[in-house]
Amino acid sequence: MSAVLIDGKARAAALRRDVAAGVEAFVAAHGRAPGLTVVLVGDDPASAVYVGSKGKATREAGMISGEYRLPAATPEAELLALIAALNADPAVDGILVQMPLPRHIDSDRVIAAIDPAKDVDGLHPVNTGLLVSGRKGLVPCTPSGCLMLIEEAIGTIAGAEALVIGRSILVGKPMAALLLNRSATVTVAHSRTRDLAAHVARADIVVAAVGIPGMVKGEWIKPGACVIDVGINRVALPDGKTRLVGDVDFDGAVKRAGRITPVPGGVGPMTIACLLANTLKAATART
Ligand code: NAD
Repeated sequence: MSAVLIDGKARAAALRRDVAAGVEAFVAAHGRAPGLTVVLVGDDPASAVYVGSKGKATREAGMISGEYRLPAATPEAELLALIAALNADPAVDGILVQMPLPRHIDSDRVIAAIDPAKDVDGLHPVNTGLLVSGRKGLVPCTPSGCLMLIEEAIGTIAGAEALVIGRSILVGKPMAALLLNRSATVTVAHSRTRDLAAHVARADIVVAAVGIPGMVKGEWIKPGACVIDVGINRVALPDGKTRLVGDVDFDGAVKRAGRITPVPGGVGPMTIACLLANTLKAATART
């Protein structure tokens, strides 16, 4: 048996087309395009690449892309003043501060300073609270994308045994809340969990968001399970080249799972697509 691959690239392309159509309707109704502004502090090369691709995707969806690239030594007060100005700017619907921030800046304080109505990363405590209480708000992009892939792959989530591996504020915790809101029976595993294999063996849905290459072994997977691999790990190959791999031992898991996301081409493309969807949602909610 070999699992059906979940095509995140195709699903993300469809979502981006839907967002672009929604943007056209928004422009027709309101005479302006939704705006997403991304703030980057420092010169981390990976963050710079992410910010560049977010800007490109924003423009491709027909939205206005704003970008601030601030030096690494920017004082926290200066960043907070910029956020206050963006909160007050009616042309800005979404604000995203690229993480990680330099060590002298308190990222919790920065996130809390963003207007929750413009918090397209869904990390503000107000949005976290809305998600946990099952109410409408802005949901973090990666778990939102995972949920879409799961729903499309298996249909009904209600009653399923779901295992989320990882409890970060960015992925694991909101993923668990989303699955619980869909009436799955949710277990959250983390670095202190005993006998991870036994938890995986029970799960109809496994979402792995750990950051350790291949740590979820193929033989642990329940036959027919839906496996969503959030991990993005760059590993060295014997020939000196590198390759991206997930947190799941794909070659083993593909033999037992019913559906599985590849890495790359699974969850990754959904994240930016969901960021665009969140920006349109924020713009629509603010009108
Ligand atoms: P994180 O480092 O904040 O959290 C990792 C979690 O894994 C922690 O909660 C920890 O308790 C848990 N963990 C560590 N060792 C464990 C173990 N042995 N058993 C069980 N759990 C263990 O990471 P994150 O931000 O949640 O990201 C996780 C992975 O997902 C990374 O590889 C990251 O690159 C990737 N990621 C991908 C996307 C995407 O768009 N595809 C987005 C965000 C993160």
